[in-house]
Amino acid sequence: MKIGFIGLGNMGAPMAANLAKAGHAVTGFDLAAPCPEGVAPAKSIAEAVQGAEVVITMLPNGAILRAVADEALAAMAPGAVLCDCSTVDVESARAVAAEAATAGMGALDAPVSGGVGGASAGTLTFMVGGSDAAFATVKPLFDVMGQKAVHCGASGAGQAAKICNNMILGVTMIATCEAFALADKLGLDRGKMFDVVSTSSGYSWVMNAYCPATGIGPKSPADNGYKPGFAAELMLKDLRLSQQAATGADADTPMGELAAALYARFVEEEDGKGMDFSAMLPRFEKRSRG
Ligand code: NAD
Repeated sequence: MKIGFIGLGNMGAPMAANLAKAGHAVTGFDLAAPCPEGVAPAKSIAEAVQGAEVVITMLPNGAILRAVADEALAAMAPGAVLCDCSTVDVESARAVAAEAATAGMGALDAPVSGGVGGASAGTLTFMVGGSDAAFATVKPLFDVMGQKAVHCGASGAGQAAKICNNMILGVTMIATCEAFALADKLGLDRGKMFDVVSTSSGYSWVMNAYCPATGIGPKSPADNGYKPGFAAELMLKDLRLSQQAATGADADTPMGELAAALYARFVEEEDGKGMDFSAMLPRFEKRSRG
């Protein structure tokens, strides 16, 4: 397939490289990052999308996506599909899809889970919103870049799934970290705590697969000096998107709101920036109730 790829950062570069490795003709454009091996460099967005059947974007936020989509849609071939894999607000995803429909193109919002490791290994999970036809067109590419693609519904449903999942993840991480800090103060051994909770009703992906306590459970960023992994500032971004969506939809999300406030304090006022989001545990360790 002929593919235009815009946004070749930490995630986009390995995704584009995997498509090229699988034999697709990929042309890439980024304002700053170089093209990975196998991807032909373009000098502009218009040049990157020219004649492409599918255009993939992997960008920092919704405002940038809207600006890039304006330029891309003006130069794309009729009937082509614009597939955004960034994590952005639901409103921007829907606005870009509406603009694409007006221009006679297809559009998908297809945010990912799996991080840079998943992008490199081609094992991402895609959560996808958009039409059946657009999903069918891009599905073979999802199969190269990932191990699973779930068609969640109409435009915006992919972003909705992503921020709901990550709101659960942020809240669960905080709950697990504060429980470990409480257990410490009660004199409970962390290994015993893991043994019990990982096989009891408090178990979760955070406890069982990504344990925030050093030396316990399978290897995680806690065993690597809390280097990300999944950075605390990216968790903050996703929690803020969840609260933006909750405000727009008039949904009551008190735990998500608290989690967003706590990660904001951690990243912006404490030492959380650049740390994995599980570094909430050493943060709680140092604190007392007052
Ligand atoms: P990144 O900052 O490494 O990459 C973004 C790239 O977009 C940069 O190279 C930047 O130069 C480029 N860019 C910005 N504006 C542009 C423009 N107008 N035209 C062309 N290129 C432009 O970010 P990333 O880590 O690759 O993340 C990308 C998206 O994926 C984000 O929305 C992020 O939330 C999401 N995401 C990231 C992870 C992760 O672990 N890094 C995991 C899941 C989802």
